Amino acid sequence: MSVRIGIDLGGTKIEAIALDDDGRESFRQRIASPRGDYDATILAIRHLVLAADAAVGEPGLVGVGIPGTISPATGLVKNANSTWLIGKPLHVDLERALDRTVRLANDANCFALSEASDGAAADARVVFGVIIGTGTGGGVVVDRHVLIGPNAIAGEWGHNALPWPEADEWPGPECYCGKRGCIETFLSGAGLVSAFRGDAELSARDIAAAAATGDERAASALAIYCRRLAKALASVINVLDPDAIVLGGGLSNIDALYSRVPQMWSEWIFSDRVDTRLVRAKYGDASGVRGAAWLWPA
Ligand SMILES: [Zn+2]
Repeated sequence: MSVRIGIDLGGTKIEAIALDDDGRESFRQRIASPRGDYDATILAIRHLVLAADAAVGEPGLVGVGIPGTISPATGLVKNANSTWLIGKPLHVDLERALDRTVRLANDANCFALSEASDGAAADARVVFGVIIGTGTGGGVVVDRHVLIGPNAIAGEWGHNALPWPEADEWPGPECYCGKRGCIETFLSGAGLVSAFRGDAELSARDIAAAAATGDERAASALAIYCRRLAKALASVINVLDPDAIVLGGGLSNIDALYSRVPQMWSEWIFSDRVDTRLVRAKYGDASGVRGAAWLWPA
């Protein structure tokens, strides 16, 4: 087997690609996630992998990027914002359903690996990859190797509290993890929506579009969002001092983030100057699926 199949299991969609030996895509398909249904999730992934097998003419090597991670101690999923996966033996069930060895990794780790390998942060030694979308995840890559750690949570800063909170950010919204004021509650799409003080209920995408065309309340929501992102990333820079921070996920498509956040973050970074680069994912909001495929290195 030489064809690599990458699966990105997300909260709203499941994407599959097949990469040949030189990294070219020979198959791509995206379907909606069967939200709340674990068995249907397994079947959906099986369907995608068999379709990829058929497209490339042989059974491929399968890597899967998952929300959360597999606990090294129990083999069960933990820390997933797709909560129907938590406590499930996903690795074992996928290998049984696909009848082959499968490699699993946290979706943010896959994303960071992809961007550090041949993406927007190629040539950067230390990369912090961030996914801002349905949830908020982070991953650390050093010299093109994913940093995992004994608890398999390296880079998981989404459930730290938002640092340097304003009066209206503390104790903050409730989070599915049981705490309040987590970074994820502010930086996910729902976080941007909750920062909007308007008459209509707008989606995160609508708010970003309205802010770009001069709507004052949308611009205000986006400014609040940028300030929160700047504080959350400043706390990472103070610990890790990465060469580059790469943003992926739906909210990474907001152009204003890349100019405004680095203008703000110096306020909280303990340094006389800041040379960290903040860049958009090269492979778009689906970059993680390439990292999943590259869980099987050339
Ligand atoms: Zn949380």
